[in-house]
Amino acid sequence: MRVVQKYGGSSLATPARILNVAERIARAYREHGPLVVVLSAMGDTTDELLALAREVSPRPHPDALDLLLSTGEVVSIALMEMALRDRGVPAVALMGWQAGIRTTPSFGRALIESVESARLERHLSGGKVVLVAGFQGVTAEEEITTLGRGGSDTTAVALAAALRAERCEIYTDVDGVYTSDPRVVPKARKLTHVTYDEMLELAHLGAVVLHPRAVELAKRYGVPLYVATSLDDREGTWIGGEAQDMEGGRVVTGVAVDESVARVTLRGVRPPEGALKRLFGLLAEAEINVDIIITSAAGPDGLDVAFSLEAGDLERAIELLAARRSSLAYDRLDAEGGLAKVSVVGAGMASRPGVAAGVFRTLADAGIDVKMVSTSEIKISVVVEREQARRAARLLHTAFGLDDEAAEAGGTPSPQGERREA
Ligand code: ASP
Ligand code: MG
Repeated sequence: MRVVQKYGGSSLATPARILNVAERIARAYREHGPLVVVLSAMGDTTDELLALAREVSPRPHPDALDLLLSTGEVVSIALMEMALRDRGVPAVALMGWQAGIRTTPSFGRALIESVESARLERHLSGGKVVLVAGFQGVTAEEEITTLGRGGSDTTAVALAAALRAERCEIYTDVDGVYTSDPRVVPKARKLTHVTYDEMLELAHLGAVVLHPRAVELAKRYGVPLYVATSLDDREGTWIGGEAQDMEGGRVVTGVAVDESVARVTLRGVRPPEGALKRLFGLLAEAEINVDIIITSAAGPDGLDVAFSLEAGDLERAIELLAARRSSLAYDRLDAEGGLAKVSVVGAGMASRPGVAAGVFRTLADAGIDVKMVSTSEIKISVVVEREQARRAARLLHTAFGLDDEAAEAGGTPSPQGERREA
């Protein structure tokens, strides 16, 4: 049985935490034999290295920057090898290139092209714990690359896929995936099991526990993921594996809230032909991400188009659209900040009608105005006033039967703090 474990930066932030993780790895080794362990850089090391680079160079050269950033993870594996060997556990630390992780040459956001696992296999057969530096690889030209922030999750899943591991365990500073953010919904409950698609929606929607790219990769290769805290032995959450009959055939799995949403409405865009192409082409060029889009039927007064976007991009979008008013003729631009998106997610809703009706009924009964709606097979999102978002999330959480009744009595442990690693 093969297992890949990954420990995030906060789990390794201090020498004491490194020793804590060493104990956990030693225990896993004694229980299951040789395993592969991927490590992140200690604590905020990557941020500190980035800041250091900027003090030396206003625009650090990408390949030199990757070489610098890759050192954070190397510190972690070297320290862990020492700690494990002190405990009598045979361990070997490998940098990404030594572990056979080949990537594209896109520095700072390299993609893994292949994993040449012969060296890993050899060490595993030799009875060792193989420690691999996360977040890094090497190009065909033998230059060191990094995979983008939070990339160690991706390293772990890629190794699990290459080694055909039975599972990939991701240890972090939160104890699992919850039905909602417990700071927003106090009755949020830890989930024992979510599907890959639910996790992808929940990650994109702000209940971030795992890097979405790692979840995509796990889905593609069918690697079951397990997320839990490294600080104690509380049960975590399984992602993937068997999707059937999860938690009694539940329809809704979670409620996510994104509190920084804005809306722009353009009225009377002319000519209506090609209006969407021009408008969204402009926004894309400016790298402004839009989310929900609603258009009217084109009439004699042109087309009305409304779209939602990240609140932080609102000013830039307004400036851009005002500056291009000649090429993008429209009568009026209305902008509205202070909005939020509340999303109800669940793989079960694909086969069950009535979820949208339930969402609208719950919000209407509470006098909460819905400004925009979008749906997918497994998600319904509504845009509401920011002041009403948390109440909306709590009401929906209750309406879809997700509340942890024990939480009211103060009975359930809450996840520790804010998640700072991917
Ligand atoms: N150390 C890198 C980062 O902070 C990679 C990771 O932790 O996953 O982004
Ligand atoms: Mg990290």
